[in-house]
Amino acid sequence: SRILVTGANGFLGAHIVKEALDSGYLVRGTVRSQTKAEELKKVFPSDKFDTSVVPDLVTGDYTEALKGVTAVIHSASPFTLDLSDPKDFLDPAINGTLNILRAAQAAGVKRFVVTSTVGTLPNRPESLFADTTYGPDDWLPITYEQAASGTLPGFMVYITSKKYAELAAWDFAKEHPEVKVTSVNPTIIYGPVIHPISSLKSLNASNMAIYSLINGSKTIPPDSVPIFCDVVSTARVHVKALDSEATYGKRVLFAKGPATMYQILQIIVKARPELADRFPPIPEVDPVAGKPISRIDSTIAMEALGIKGLELEETVLQTVDNLLELEKKL
Ligand code: NDP
Repeated sequence: SRILVTGANGFLGAHIVKEALDSGYLVRGTVRSQTKAEELKKVFPSDKFDTSVVPDLVTGDYTEALKGVTAVIHSASPFTLDLSDPKDFLDPAINGTLNILRAAQAAGVKRFVVTSTVGTLPNRPESLFADTTYGPDDWLPITYEQAASGTLPGFMVYITSKKYAELAAWDFAKEHPEVKVTSVNPTIIYGPVIHPISSLKSLNASNMAIYSLINGSKTIPPDSVPIFCDVVSTARVHVKALDSEATYGKRVLFAKGPATMYQILQIIVKARPELADRFPPIPEVDPVAGKPISRIDSTIAMEALGIKGLELEETVLQTVDNLLELEKKL
C-alpha cells in the first residue's frame, strides 16, 4: 500500500522515506516546490517513490497527494532556532497538522502518525535536568498566548508549537475515531544526513549542534536537550508504528539516553584526534556534571516495536564522519 510522508526532504523525513521503502511500502513524499521534488527524486530513484508538491502546510490542497494513500506520516514542521515571528512556528505546526488531518480523513485515510517531540513533555522549570521520568501524561505548561507574545526564546516557541499541534491531532482523533492517530515524540535526533542540502550552513538544527564541535567554532552550544536518539531508529519507530495496534491513540516517546555536549565532544576527541585543530576550547569538567538528567519512558518504542536505538558513541561518530564527507562534497 502507498503511504504519504510530509516534509520528505527534511533530515528526519528523508530517513522515514528510506525506512518505508526498505519495509516494502510505496511512498509519496510532499515537498514545497518542484525543484525540491526533483532533488529528492535523485536521492530515491526507486519507481516505488514519487513526490507531490504542496507549497503551503496551512492552505495546501492534498487532494492529489492523497490519491491511493492508506496512511500518512506527518513530519513537516518548522524547526529552526532563528525565529522572526512566533506565528511562523505556531501557524504551520498547528493549522498545518489540522489541514492534512482533515484532508486525510475526507480521503478515507484511517491511519495517521504525527511527529511531535519530547519537548512537549517537561512540566518542570528545570526541564530535562529534573530527576524524573517523563511519560505520556506529561505536558509542557507553556500556553499558546505566551508563545505568541513574542517574549519567549525561539526554542520555547518551537516546543509550544509542537505541543499545540499534537493536541490538535488528539482533539481531531476524538472527533473522528475512525482515524487511528499516533504521535511519535523523539528527543533531539542526531545522525547521518541523506536529504538534499546545498551547504552545511543549511544543516538541520539538531545536527548543527554536533557540527559546531568540529567546524572551528570557539564555543560549545548550550545543553538544552541533554538526551538523544539516532535518526535511523527514530524513522523506524514511525514506520513500524503504522501497522502496530499497540501504538493506536498513543504517544510513542523515544529517547536512548543522556548526551551532554561535553560527552559528545569527549567521544569525538578520543575517536577522531586528527580533528584537534577544529575543536572548541575543551572544558576540564562537564559544565552540567552532577545535575540529574531526566529519563523518557520509551517503553512502547523499545518493547512493543522492538526498537532499542543506537548508542551515543556510534551515533556521534556516524554523524561526524557523514558531516566530514558532506564538507568535501559541498
Ligand atoms: P528539517 O528542518 O530538516 O525538516 C523539516 C521539514 O519540514 C522540511 O521538509 C521542511 O521543508 C518542512 N517544513 C518546515 N517548515 C515548513 C513550512 N512552514 N511549510 C511547509 N513545510 C515546512 O527538520 P527535522 O527533520 O529535524 O524535523 C522533522 C520533524 O521532526 C519536525 O516535525 C520536528 O519538529 C521533529 N523533531 C525533530 C527533532 C530533531 O532533533 N531534529 C527532535 C524532535 C522532533 P523545506 O525543506 O521546504 O523547508
